[in-house]
Amino acid sequence: MQSAEETTNCPDCGHQIRVNPRYVTWCEHCDWNVDPTPVVDQTPAWRLAIEHRLANSLYGELAKGEVHRPGWDAARIAAVLLSVLILMLPLIGLVTGIALLVLYRPLWFSILLSLPAFGIAFLTRPRAATLPRGVQLLHRDQAPTLYAVLDQVAAAVGTKRVAAVAVIAEPNLWYMRAGWRLDPVIGIGLPLWAGLRPQERVAMLAHELGHGRHGDSLNNWLVGSAWSVLDGLRATFTEHRLDRIRREWGVRDGTGTTIVSRMLNTTVGLLVRGIAWLLERLQLRSSQRAEYLADRKAGEIAGSEATAQALERLFLADASYRAMERAIRFPTEITPLDAVRRAVTEVPAREIERHLRASRVRETRTDATHPPTYLRTKLIRTRPITTARVVLDTDQSLAIDHELEPVAQKVLSQLRLGR
Ligand SMILES: [Zn+2]
Ligand SMILES: [Zn+2]
Repeated sequence: MQSAEETTNCPDCGHQIRVNPRYVTWCEHCDWNVDPTPVVDQTPAWRLAIEHRLANSLYGELAKGEVHRPGWDAARIAAVLLSVLILMLPLIGLVTGIALLVLYRPLWFSILLSLPAFGIAFLTRPRAATLPRGVQLLHRDQAPTLYAVLDQVAAAVGTKRVAAVAVIAEPNLWYMRAGWRLDPVIGIGLPLWAGLRPQERVAMLAHELGHGRHGDSLNNWLVGSAWSVLDGLRATFTEHRLDRIRREWGVRDGTGTTIVSRMLNTTVGLLVRGIAWLLERLQLRSSQRAEYLADRKAGEIAGSEATAQALERLFLADASYRAMERAIRFPTEITPLDAVRRAVTEVPAREIERHLRASRVRETRTDATHPPTYLRTKLIRTRPITTARVVLDTDQSLAIDHELEPVAQKVLSQLRLGR
């Protein structure tokens, strides 16, 4: 902690403000400089206005009454219809192709015509959700303490037990259903996890598992499957992927293939991105609601204050990642994860407060599927739940770190080698 504190005067309102050379200088009286590096946002103003109104109306609704499951509003129905349409594409392609082959003559001509139809069927085929590349899995027998906590949380949430834990280097946590059997997998990002206090860890796990609970499963399955198709298409029709395929085929630039792939990239790629954008917008309200519901669940399980504080820790995610990276690049006797812990515990409350205010200034943006953090923490604290249903003590928390250690080493050495 900095003991000798300097002060200066706010250039905007003249109040005396504290200066800590390691952090941003800002004014608590007028919010001067709370957000010194505003996110450069290309989103048009009308869309920001829609998202802003949406976030506020949703918040108002949730703050007033009980948080309940989403109803069938127009946007949700449209999202499901669009998903069904996307999922029917392979069938339509297949049937059209076969019909052409059977019914149309001359045969050589029908073969020619059926090729694009089969192409569409192939490109839009349903895919099993796969884990991101490079994740290290931590299985049940390797981490009994962690899985015991996960099972306790899953039982409290009322959702399926997780099948695997994916340990990652990114500073976040996520939940997904992987494979054809849709097994729940939870992703634990080391730099975020390392900086969390025990009860904040419970809150984060409960929030993620809360995503497995909400929304009815048919709806989730339909929209989720449509997303896996769209993601596959997006991956196919990006410059990067096609470039690689071209190189593998030994095709040089300026050939017909390049022109065709560029054309496909702009036309089909644009169409796919447009549809993905539309689906995302249609889901905006329900995905924001899902975040609030997951927060509410987390509050019930870990206690409101721990949940709110866990969310505030997310502000430090980037700083945690940088601390970890620095420790990997310039090794000292401090391990990378200890460096993260140190960096996080050093952060003064005033810096967290600045981040909170910045999230209010930035409002709905940065990631529209998540409501702004200041609204999330405010909602959690409006009706605080003081008793936790799952309690993790310091010893258990340390035991989990111990269980994570071998896999963490692998993840860190991957990072050291530049993946
Ligand atoms: Zn000021
Ligand atoms: Zn979430």
